[in-house]
Amino acid sequence: MSLLVQKFGGTSVGTVERIKAVAEKVAAFRQQGHDIVVAVSAMSGETNRLIALSEGIATPREMDVLVSTGEQVTISLLSMALNTLGCPAVSYTGSQVRILTDSAHTKARIKRIDEGNIRADLAEGKVVVVAGFQGTDEAGNITTLGRGGSDTTAVALAAALKADECQIYTDVDGVYTTDPRVVASAQRLDRITFEEMLEMASLGSKVLQIRAVEFAGKYNVPLRVLHSFQDGPGTLICLEEKTTMEAPAISGIAFNRDEAKLTVLGVPDIPGVAYKILGPISEANIEVDVIVQNVADDKTTDLTFTVHRNDMKRAATILEATASELGAREVKTDDKIAKLSLVGVGMRSHAGIASQMFRALADVSINILLITTSEIKISVVVDEKFLELGVRALHTAFGLDAESAAESTGE
Ligand code: ADP
Ligand code: ASP
Ligand code: MG
Repeated sequence: MSLLVQKFGGTSVGTVERIKAVAEKVAAFRQQGHDIVVAVSAMSGETNRLIALSEGIATPREMDVLVSTGEQVTISLLSMALNTLGCPAVSYTGSQVRILTDSAHTKARIKRIDEGNIRADLAEGKVVVVAGFQGTDEAGNITTLGRGGSDTTAVALAAALKADECQIYTDVDGVYTTDPRVVASAQRLDRITFEEMLEMASLGSKVLQIRAVEFAGKYNVPLRVLHSFQDGPGTLICLEEKTTMEAPAISGIAFNRDEAKLTVLGVPDIPGVAYKILGPISEANIEVDVIVQNVADDKTTDLTFTVHRNDMKRAATILEATASELGAREVKTDDKIAKLSLVGVGMRSHAGIASQMFRALADVSINILLITTSEIKISVVVDEKFLELGVRALHTAFGLDAESAAESTGE
């Protein structure tokens, strides 16, 4: 008998019928003798609907009071459905469990989970159903954990309870080489390392929230992504495998359309200029991702950086002010960009990945605007209209397509 934390995402609980189907699945696990804690999301579309209601009047504290209602609906319905099946269940909001977080409304971090209630209920044979995505701060204010935060609730519960496995049930049957909704030939991975999953998540693969992966890595929580309504092994997120040498160069391709590019042209090329340009941006709490500075030819230089699209207008206003202070020639902005990234621990032992990537993009006439690399990833920024073409070209070039993989292993 084991202790399992199971998380069901928005689509999996999108209708009352699906909630009943989830109840049957959970009850069957309980029947096998497992102790079960379930974390659930709001019914699909509900969080977006709630956010839209607040347009123009949103304030952070009240936003959390508003959006946390979505998950509260699901926990009550799922617990009722379980009880109706004869499987005793009890629901808890984040504050009732007490999932203690910091006070950063709409993006709070979990500090501690009081497990007393949960342990007592499990000891009585109950299934415990916890609202995902929410917690409470020291003062008792409701907080939420950022979009996709129910994944993090599940992993944090699994860590606190030292669960045998944290199972993330969703609308795909595992983690794929890339989003299977964009590349039909994407393949499910049996395993992926925490390190790679962290890169994939932070570079745009929203199948798991970044913080959930961080948490799982930090507390070594066995984490698996599975389909809610189809049987299968799913994908295990695991510690680095010893056979890195044999690992494929690339495990996956991530992409996002969330960024915008800002360029300041003709800035005097003197010490401290990057600081003068980027300092005010970071003081305004705007996160900067890719940064590229050109080599100066005529004692002036150009600097380009990317920020989240939602921050572009704010960043542009700040940059305009700095540019005129520095006597720069011009500021340009572009929010029609996309970032494509190759991820793989195998990159450490394979040379030439970058040039292979650039060739694959050149072969389909995609112009690269920016390039950035780290030990296990290479990202390029391209025109947004080339996103899908680029992802497909790279997927094929690195032998990730379902058919070519079968050929290369002789299957
Ligand atoms: P949930 O509501 O269950 O949390 P999400 O929509 O947050 O589900 O995450 C599942 C979705 O993630 C899939 O439907 C898929 O389109 C997307 N996705 C993006 N990248 C990947 C990937 N590499 N592997 C699997 N799914 C991915
Ligand atoms: N309901 C929240 C969202 O849509 C949290 C989650 O589903 O993980 O972002
Ligand atoms: Mg999600």
